[in-house]
This record gives sequence, structure tokens and C-alpha cells, in this order.
Amino acid sequence: MKAAILEGRRKLKIRELPLPRCGDDEAIIRVEACGICRTDLKCYEDGQRDLTLPRILGHELAGTVYVAGKKVKGVQPGMRVQVAPGLSCGACRYCQQGRDNLCHELKIVGFNYDGGFAQYMVVPARGLERGILKEIAPSLSFAEASLTEPLACCIHMQEALGLAPGESILISGCGRLGILNAKLAMLRGAEKVILLEPAEQRRELASRLGMFYCLDGANANVVEEIRRLTGGQGVDLAIPCCPDPAALETSLQALAKGGRLGFFSGLLPEKLPLNFNLIHYKEITVIGGYGCTLKDNRAALDLLASGAIEVKEILTREISLEEVEAGLSMIREMAALSVIITFN
Ligand SMILES: [Zn+2]
Ligand SMILES: [Zn+2]
Repeated sequence: MKAAILEGRRKLKIRELPLPRCGDDEAIIRVEACGICRTDLKCYEDGQRDLTLPRILGHELAGTVYVAGKKVKGVQPGMRVQVAPGLSCGACRYCQQGRDNLCHELKIVGFNYDGGFAQYMVVPARGLERGILKEIAPSLSFAEASLTEPLACCIHMQEALGLAPGESILISGCGRLGILNAKLAMLRGAEKVILLEPAEQRRELASRLGMFYCLDGANANVVEEIRRLTGGQGVDLAIPCCPDPAALETSLQALAKGGRLGFFSGLLPEKLPLNFNLIHYKEITVIGGYGCTLKDNRAALDLLASGAIEVKEILTREISLEEVEAGLSMIREMAALSVIITFN
């Protein structure tokens, strides 16, 4: 099988590997679609906290079950599935509370295990036990299903913030997570969803997708404009969906008194005076959101399958495995809203 293996910093090699062996309590998936995420770019350029090398990256994936081990129940070859990438222990206090994204023993597909930048992938026994494979509705394409994990992260953040109908929300960044957060906030009944984005092209795209308030985040008067749009109050909630600390600053200024800030996106450490990223990773106060739980993943797949959240317009670029480095550049240059590796 063909796989893209990260062997070191910026050393990503396409190699021919033997098909992985399937243990009795494991399964093998033929990968059909795997999204490239900013985290993959970070792994490629700088490494990442949870990453060990060499590694096949890719954690936003959907595929077809190719082999199911003898002891595996509920999964058959030919089944179309989405993979929730978090492998939690099921026993620690966080798992017991349903906060499995904070599991003490958390392992992640594409970080600790080989992921979806390959034609085939092993689903570890622990993952099968925890139910990380979920069948995809026939109405959903593999590429659409690969957006389940990013959408689940948005659900996780908005659940934690307790976004209620009638509230106003500010979302900074019209990348795919900004758009998904905005769509979800609208679905949850937010009264006003305001998006900030410095790039005109992305603002236009967001407007075409039915986002009413798309403002230029680089405009010096943007905080005043947000106040005006919210009857002089400021927004109830803000979720910066980009790594620039300036968006965090703008959010803090634009929030109403008693407002809630979702610390959703890790920030570029070189631009930070303190390690505020701990708020992100450990979900300390402000309300951090890091990844998603199995429950969020299921909720996300259901929203996609029912059509409540439509993502076809977000699927702007499909590439082959051989083009993976070009795909990473597109993410870096923000040249496409989403880049998905597909196989045929
Ligand atoms: Zn991701
Ligand atoms: Zn656990």
C-alpha cells in the first residue's frame, strides 16, 4: 500500500509499505477520504505535543472496512465508516465523566497511531472497544463524513459554552472551523452570528454561505461596529478560530460584560508573553475547548447525515495522496477552505 510517512521535520515521504496485518481484535480500513488540518501542518513543520515519529498523519477520516478480526463484533467488511480519532481508556475519572477527550491515557489516531494519509489503516483494538467506528449514512459521501471530527470539535466548544437561543456570538476567522462554528451557532438559535475575517475572498465566500455579518477583522473600528450590531452591548460569546493572539484581544474587547470566551484554537507560542495555551489544552476556566468526545463525534455525524449542517460548499479541494505536500502548502497559504485527500 501507498502511505505518506512523516520521518522528521518537513520530511514527508511517499512509500510503498506492506499491507498491515490485522489482529483478531483489530480491523483494517481502506481509507477513502482524509482531511488535512492545520494540526497536520503543525506536525509537519514543528512537531506536536502528542506526536511520535515516524508516523502516518491524518485524523479526519472516513473509509470502508476491509478486514475485521475474528473477535471483532458489530463491524463487517464493506461497511462505510467514519473514525473518531481519540482512543480513550474508558476507566479514568475523565472517561467516567464522559470527558474522554481529556483522558489520562488518551492516544490519537494520526499522532500515536498511524492515521489516514495511507491507502489502509489499522483500527486498534482499544478503539473498536470504545466504538470509534461509526457507520456513515448512505446519503453522505466519504469526503463529507471526513468533516465529522472538525464539526465535533465545534459542538464540543459550543456545548461547553452553553450557547443558548437568542444569544449573539462573535467568530474570528472564516476558515472551515469558523464556518462550521457559525453554521452550528445558527442551528442552535443564536440571534446574531458575527464573523471576522481580514481576507476579502473568504468574507465573500462566507456571505454566499448565508452568513449575514462578515466584518473585516483588520479594520480599526471593528469593535465599535460589533457593539453597534449588538445594541451597544457587545457579544454574549466569542470563539476565536485562528491562532493569532490579536483575535483573542479583539474578542475580549467585543464581549459584553459577563460574556463568555471559548478558547478553541491554540495560539502561536512565539507571539505569546505567557503560555496561555495551557488554558486551551487543560480547559482551565475561560472555557477551553480541546478536541471532542465520542459523544460529540456521534452528534456531528448525525447532524451531517440529517442535512442539518450542509458541508458540500466547504469541500473546496480534493487531492491525491501524492499531492499531500502541496496540500499542506494550501493549508499554510489558506489557499483552500478545506483540502481532502481522496483515494480511488
Ligand atoms: Zn484536525
Ligand atoms: Zn480515560
